[in-house]
Amino acid sequence: MGKVLIIDISKCNGCHNCQIACKDEHVGNDWSPVAKPQPMTGQFWTKVYDKVRGSVPKVKVSYLHSICRHCDEAPCIKACSNKAIYKRPDGIVIIDPEKCQGSKDCIRECPFDDVIYFNEELNIAQKCTFCAHLIDKGWDETRCSDACPTGAFTFGDEEKLQDLIAKADQLTLKSGEPESSLRPRVYFIGIPKRFIGATIFDPEEDEVIIGADVNIISVSGGNTVSVKTDDFGDFWVDGLLPDKYEVEIKKSGYKTIKMQTDTNEADINLGDIPMQAGNG
Ligand code: SF4
Ligand code: SF4
Repeated sequence: MGKVLIIDISKCNGCHNCQIACKDEHVGNDWSPVAKPQPMTGQFWTKVYDKVRGSVPKVKVSYLHSICRHCDEAPCIKACSNKAIYKRPDGIVIIDPEKCQGSKDCIRECPFDDVIYFNEELNIAQKCTFCAHLIDKGWDETRCSDACPTGAFTFGDEEKLQDLIAKADQLTLKSGEPESSLRPRVYFIGIPKRFIGATIFDPEEDEVIIGADVNIISVSGGNTVSVKTDDFGDFWVDGLLPDKYEVEIKKSGYKTIKMQTDTNEADINLGDIPMQAGNG
């Protein structure tokens, strides 16, 4: 049965236990023929990194992960001039440390950053093995999935995890192709979408405006999201798709505000927005 790993980003609290457990398993340990020892420094076969969203005071931090996807249509396998990379019957992609000649073809062709590392001392490429040496001993978990205290990692048989796989985010490669074209065996759930936030205030009264109507309208024809500013004059709408938006702010006794913004590159904190008294 094919193995898969599903990472629910919404459950990750950034503890780095997965990263540490992987190092504990592989640094200095020779699991040939699956992998040679990982060096003490410089490699992270699973890597957690912070993504800071928005700007002060409207900031959220999400924790994203880089790890080999164990692609069924793996560019690294096709690229390796020494045929040192192979796919096992359970779907795990292994770089054979005996056959690797250090050509770095795989590093050039893997479409993901921080997945394959180069071991200068041994002159070989190295990466996540889905802990194949443990799976072969009957383990049900990888070290990283076993170490996760929040249940963000689910490892197991593809056939049994179809319900979770169905919830996976549809991701895009840097080339613009859908990531699914590689038929990856690592799936992500809950990758953060975008937010738009701001604070609305009355500059004459020097007070925040509570209960203003805020409509966030997708310019490309997506949904409109409507909220009201809270007791601090704030609105903060999360879960938006990357898109261009018109933000319309209305309140009885004030002039309506309309502004354009764009979440394609980042989350947007529109800052403190003054609303002038008047009509329309
Ligand atoms: S993620 Fe990169 S290294 Fe892993 S199987 Fe796919 S192409 Fe190969
Ligand atoms: S599956 Fe094993 S080798 Fe891969 S990142 Fe997790 S602990 Fe490291």
